[in-house]
Amino acid sequence: MYCRNCGERILENELTCKKCNTKKNEGVNFCHNCGHRTSERLDYCRNCGAKLNKIIPLSQRKARIQQLTKDASKLKKLSKRQGIVAIICITLIVLSFLVIELRPEPEGIPELGYDIVGNYDGSISTYGPNYRSRFASDDVQDFWSTNIMIAGFAIGCFIVFIYAVIMKSVYKKMYKKTINRIKEEKKYVL
Ligand SMILES: [Zn+2]
Ligand SMILES: [Zn+2]
Repeated sequence: MYCRNCGERILENELTCKKCNTKKNEGVNFCHNCGHRTSERLDYCRNCGAKLNKIIPLSQRKARIQQLTKDASKLKKLSKRQGIVAIICITLIVLSFLVIELRPEPEGIPELGYDIVGNYDGSISTYGPNYRSRFASDDVQDFWSTNIMIAGFAIGCFIVFIYAVIMKSVYKKMYKKTINRIKEEKKYVL
């Protein structure tokens, strides 16, 4: 017989492993029958086919609960961080639109201009709407290009916002899963 925790040979009359002090049949790492490495996921030994029972030592359960608790708090932090990023993005988007709305408009043609061009044959063509209309002054052109830049920034913020919202829900789901696993493990410890 072999120790299921460390793979050391255990004599029939011994109750615990001399090497790691784990009880007979407790552990998931090695086959009790042939000493081959196994895994918690396996029901039968891949080497000899022996049925593996899954008694996990209490100390291992406790260590696992500790690790899972750490993971859960990390996931909670990550989820919170994404929430903050989302709020910052929304604030920046609102600010961008406020800046666009409240910036004093220059004298001249504040609206988008149309270029009206008289053709040689006497007909008229219109081009636009175009903030770079040749009827627009430099001030108007600057005004519109700045607005477009701010709008571009807001769109960038929106993309980051969507990403943050998705990541937040991913982390939240992972957090819930981890909490459930902790509950599951705790059932065996009590
Ligand atoms: Zn052992
Ligand atoms: Zn085996």
